[in-house]
Amino acid sequence: MDARSGRTFETLNPATNKVLARIAEAEEADLDTAVTAARAAFDGGPWPKMTAAERGRILWRMADLLMQKADEVARLESLDNGKPIFESRQVDIPLVAEIFQYYAGWATKITGDTLPARAGAFTYTLREPVGVVAAIVPWNFPLLLTSWKVAPALAAGNTVLIKPSSNTPLTALKLAEIAQEAGLPDGVLNVVTGRGSVIGMAMVKHAGVDKIAFTGETKTGMEIMKAGAETLKKITLELGGKSPNIVFADADLDAAVRGATVGIFYGKGEVCAAGSRLFVEKKIHDEFVQKLVARTKKMVPGDPLDPKTRFGAIVSRPQLEKVLRYIATGKEEGAQLVAGGERAQVEGLDGNFVLPTVFDHVQPGMRIAREEIFGPVLSTLEFSDPEEAIAQANATPYGLAAGLWTRDVAKAHRAARALKAGTIWINTYNRYDPALPFGGYKQSGYGRELGAAALEHYTQLKSVWVDLE
Ligand code: NAD
Repeated sequence: MDARSGRTFETLNPATNKVLARIAEAEEADLDTAVTAARAAFDGGPWPKMTAAERGRILWRMADLLMQKADEVARLESLDNGKPIFESRQVDIPLVAEIFQYYAGWATKITGDTLPARAGAFTYTLREPVGVVAAIVPWNFPLLLTSWKVAPALAAGNTVLIKPSSNTPLTALKLAEIAQEAGLPDGVLNVVTGRGSVIGMAMVKHAGVDKIAFTGETKTGMEIMKAGAETLKKITLELGGKSPNIVFADADLDAAVRGATVGIFYGKGEVCAAGSRLFVEKKIHDEFVQKLVARTKKMVPGDPLDPKTRFGAIVSRPQLEKVLRYIATGKEEGAQLVAGGERAQVEGLDGNFVLPTVFDHVQPGMRIAREEIFGPVLSTLEFSDPEEAIAQANATPYGLAAGLWTRDVAKAHRAARALKAGTIWINTYNRYDPALPFGGYKQSGYGRELGAAALEHYTQLKSVWVDLE
């Protein structure tokens, strides 16, 4: 649907910087239309009257249709985001389908309790949907992070507005088509495209929206909390990170080298949980960094649509410039550049390509060790004993994830308890499952996505008291 003003914005292909599509630029009046549709669908439409089993079947059908169209959807995601088609087709889109299937199963299992509190009364709870949910999504995993919000929201019986990032709106629009084909009633899922500061903010302030599920930068999360206060919006926030990945001397070094590169370079480093601070024990430092550099140098940026490519294009020119500025800052701060550190050329493409970059001898106070770069830049730091590593790993306002590599089981579990982060990976990195809750400690946000834990945020409890006397 066009915006009432007729305005549009362009979404670009990061591999070529050419225009992919023109998208409706919604403003507040358009948002009102979407909220009215979502409210009507929640308050009086067929959706809340449907059985939970039928809701579950529709979610499952969405997963089936998504997999039938997986080639097309994956291509859209890679064109819009610059991620390799290998990642979109083999990882993102199948995971989105799994998430819809996982929550399809939950639709019939969302229950209240009977509470035998006193003899003279029958007391029980109903677990009910919160109402109209607005999902505000970033550009790094456009459809995947949309599904983290939309699937549990729909399973619980809510209606939804999606606000995709203006960098990557295409797959959210595709999801709306799929939802319609799967039989989701009108008004249950609505996509509103436009600028975050305008339309995202308007969603946060809108009295007709009951809940905001946001993923994005920590500073945007702070603005959302403030703006949501006036309507006491229910808010969950998945924010930034500067996650530590700790390699102890007793680790399987080859596995840890693989894990360190996957940790920072998967998704071009545009991953909230990226292992961007690599702590390496002094005893193995030189050998480890040598292996790390050799492996990094083999990772060559390529055309995202080439099935052989494992490292794509940075999402936008401004994001590329930000990454390059941080690389310059790292050099100025005196860190040692040991791999990458400059733009890359991919034949025939005028895209946002940069080489995977590793800095060694990074000091904890340097900006590249403290600030989220959100790109393929790894800061390597050295440590001498486990306590020092944990203390340094925790010395950040963020707390999204942490990784550690060791063969010592007790040391691994001790570290898992001591690290202040929402997800701990032991002898692996960047692994996700629909059943496992994901979210932040400290300024990486609050609330949890995925798993049963997410359903808490899309439902509310009602206590019912029946007098029996
Ligand atoms: P961003 O905060 O700029 O934007 C995220 C979304 O919010 C977009 O849809 C944007 O249009 C919208 N938005 C922007 N300003 C807004 C405002 N004032 N009010 C309401 N909505 C607004 O983030 P980004 O650059 O798209 O994404 C990168 C960030 O997301 C990184 O910090 C990264 O760590 C974080 N992230 C976190 C997770 C997680 O699960 N914790 C996952 C992925 C990304």
